Amino acid sequence: MSTAQERIANNVTVVRQQIADAANRSGRTEDSVTLVAVTKYADAAETRLLVEAGCLVLGESRPQLLWQKAQELADLENIEWHQIGHMQRNKLARTLPIISLFQSVDSERLLQATDEVSAKLNRATDVLLEVNISGDSTKHGFAPSDMSSIVQRLDLYSHISVRGIMGMASLLGGKEQARRDFAALRDLRDSLLNYSETIRELSMGMSGDFDVAIEEGATIVRVGSALFE
Ligand SMILES: *Cc1c(COP(=O)(O)O)cnc(C)c1O
Repeated sequence: MSTAQERIANNVTVVRQQIADAANRSGRTEDSVTLVAVTKYADAAETRLLVEAGCLVLGESRPQLLWQKAQELADLENIEWHQIGHMQRNKLARTLPIISLFQSVDSERLLQATDEVSAKLNRATDVLLEVNISGDSTKHGFAPSDMSSIVQRLDLYSHISVRGIMGMASLLGGKEQARRDFAALRDLRDSLLNYSETIRELSMGMSGDFDVAIEEGATIVRVGSALFE
């Protein structure tokens, strides 16, 4: 019988190998892809096991869970947190000081509020703009066609640095549709680079499709359930 510690450590090894293989297939090395370990299925004790297995970049989708886990794991000095899920503006002030990257800025209102709160906190915030590439009405994010006008207005936001874009594949259509969605996100990122050379990161791919996402150019993958099987 394996302990939770062995199980999680083994899952991390398997996922890291799959990341390395996919990176090699796309002519890159594994260190060109950042693994964000998504902890929304885990409690603080399991999250600690993930960190012991070498996952130092953690992602949470709900701000309240992020606050709670960051507090319970405050003794771990080498970890960083990413906010990856939809966030209401009234949660910004408490969230921004905890995270190193806000991956899920999904509207211009939230972008503006993030800038205002960052100014009040006297800090600069690194963000990704979330793009609804599949057009799925249940998903958050900017429409792809709005992106070029938004990135041309980024000078308005002096306390934000846009590092790239984030997205998810369609719910339907399997891996072939996912590959088309990921390729579209990559092409969008490439076109935005013409306006701002800091827009380099491409956060895409989850447990079911991170291999395809890496083949299509992902620089950040967000993996949850595969680490806790
Ligand atoms: C939950 C979640 C993930 C991870 O999903 P898995 O399929 O469990 O790997 C990635 N990104 C976001 C935004 C999520 O909410």
